[in-house]
Amino acid sequence: MSQQFDLVVIGGGPGGYEAAIRAAQLGFKVACIEKRIHKGKPSLGGTCLNVGCIPSKALLDSSHRYEATQHDLAEHGITTGDVKLDLATLLARKDKVVDGLTGGVAGLLKGNGIEWLQGTGKLLAGKKVEFVSHAGETQVLEPKYVILASGSVPVNIPVAPVDQDLIVDSTGALEFPEVPKRLGVIGAGVIGLELGSVWRRLGAEVTVFEAMDSFLGLADKELSKEYQKILTKQGLDIQIGAKVAGTEINGREVTVKFTQNGEDKTQVFDKVIVCVGRKAYAEGLLAEDSGIKLTERGLVEVNDYCLTSVEGVYAIGDLVRGPMLAHKAMEEGVMAVERIHGHAAQVNYDTIISVIYTHPEAAWVGMTEQQATEKGIEVKTGKFGFAANGRALAAADNQGFVKFVADAKTDRLLGMHVVGPNASDIIHQGMIAMEFVSSVEDLQLMTFGHPTFSEVVHEAALAVDNRAIHAINRKKK
Ligand code: FAD
Ligand code: NAD
Repeated sequence: MSQQFDLVVIGGGPGGYEAAIRAAQLGFKVACIEKRIHKGKPSLGGTCLNVGCIPSKALLDSSHRYEATQHDLAEHGITTGDVKLDLATLLARKDKVVDGLTGGVAGLLKGNGIEWLQGTGKLLAGKKVEFVSHAGETQVLEPKYVILASGSVPVNIPVAPVDQDLIVDSTGALEFPEVPKRLGVIGAGVIGLELGSVWRRLGAEVTVFEAMDSFLGLADKELSKEYQKILTKQGLDIQIGAKVAGTEINGREVTVKFTQNGEDKTQVFDKVIVCVGRKAYAEGLLAEDSGIKLTERGLVEVNDYCLTSVEGVYAIGDLVRGPMLAHKAMEEGVMAVERIHGHAAQVNYDTIISVIYTHPEAAWVGMTEQQATEKGIEVKTGKFGFAANGRALAAADNQGFVKFVADAKTDRLLGMHVVGPNASDIIHQGMIAMEFVSSVEDLQLMTFGHPTFSEVVHEAALAVDNRAIHAINRKKK
């Protein structure tokens, strides 16, 4: 290849393509190598756009409408006829959303003058990059900088080998050709709860197996308790402390064998989803003498600014430490490029939000009450429910609460935890407040619009000091 690139990005997921765009904005000559073929076509956007965030949210939205149309309209005085599901159309809409967005990313790269190299990239010694096109042609590029952004893949467990037919991973679970009558989900994490909810709403009986003895062990305890109660009431059968010991396929059925409370049990399903986490994907990415160090868990070792053990080579997103989230990957990509350009950019890992897009949604940012207490911080908390919020009642969407965790001595806001309507948007109020090192009093002094779901944020901040208006405040001990 005669072209000289300032920067080569390996991986065109949210981390990689945002890095490429920011670099082009800053005047770099950029190539982005992406090998993904999605439904027969080369495709940008990574896991997120092709088989992750976007298709799962499209299914969550469609399935929510289906369920709400059947069950939530009568109280508004709206009567419908038979509500029918056309799964093929529902899945085709999801594919159209994916196509639109992945095509949009291709347009953005082109419009920014970025070369999309369709094929596989490998980092060689001396910061060189080998590119093998889908047609099998090999070229060696010698850019000034490289960003590794090859993402992650699902973790497999030998007790439930994925065949993408009866036992599927998250990608297979986006494509069931018909609604399974009995669906088993191994892992009550983000994917299990989101995709389990999708298929439950569409008519499946869903059982979720969680090996740990607690539900969402890393979340705030009050949040996980309330959230589990809501999901269970919706019909998700969440089995905690259920360790899957094996699976057996008989004809078109899968028997899941598991132990719970010391007892051996079995349950039979039509489909099983395995979603027990994801692992960094670096297969074929690094020549043996590339100089890149990996951690014991197979992540690329980086410093706080995503610089690897090789000068001029950065690694970002799911390939490196930290939560496996698209927005985290995006911000790391932008940070790496700005660092290369000489800016003192950084990512604030303390304010990366987590969201589970069920209905209601669950979202949090910062420390849980338990984490703050474990750190030896004297904590004060405030909680306010959507059940006393006018807008939520008017919308008949009033489950859950907002909870704040704050430092009792300094009043500094440490964490925000939400189960409820629009939690994925509401949580950004806490994120922004924490970025500005806000006190609880700052939030108390602000005027929130009425009637809005966000008024619960104001009331929860007031509740920290036992002065919520629309609640009888009980004296704290
Ligand atoms: P990826 O998106 O994985 O992209 C890496 C790309 O690199 C891939 O396309 C791959 O083909 C390519 N590649 C790998 N090796 C090479 C190579 N050697 N040469 C060329 N190309 C290569 N996160 C959220 O924040 N919100 C959500 O709602 C959300 N929902 C999700 C739902 C599901 C079902 C799943 C599976 C994930 C979800 N995630 C979500 C996680 C999110 O998708 C990832 O955190 C994000 O995609 C990581 O971005 P990345 O750029 O690091 O890697
Ligand atoms: P996860 O880490 O969220 O959850 C996996 C769950 O499986 C855990 O609760 C774990 O205890 C359990 N588990 C592990 N081994 C098990 C076993 N053998 N039997 C039963 N349970 C077992 O992982 P995930 O749900 O697969 O999601 C993977 C990644 O994708 C996550 O890191 C997440 O951040 C990302 N993701 C994010 C979103 C979002 O932001 N809304 C949505 C989907 C995925």
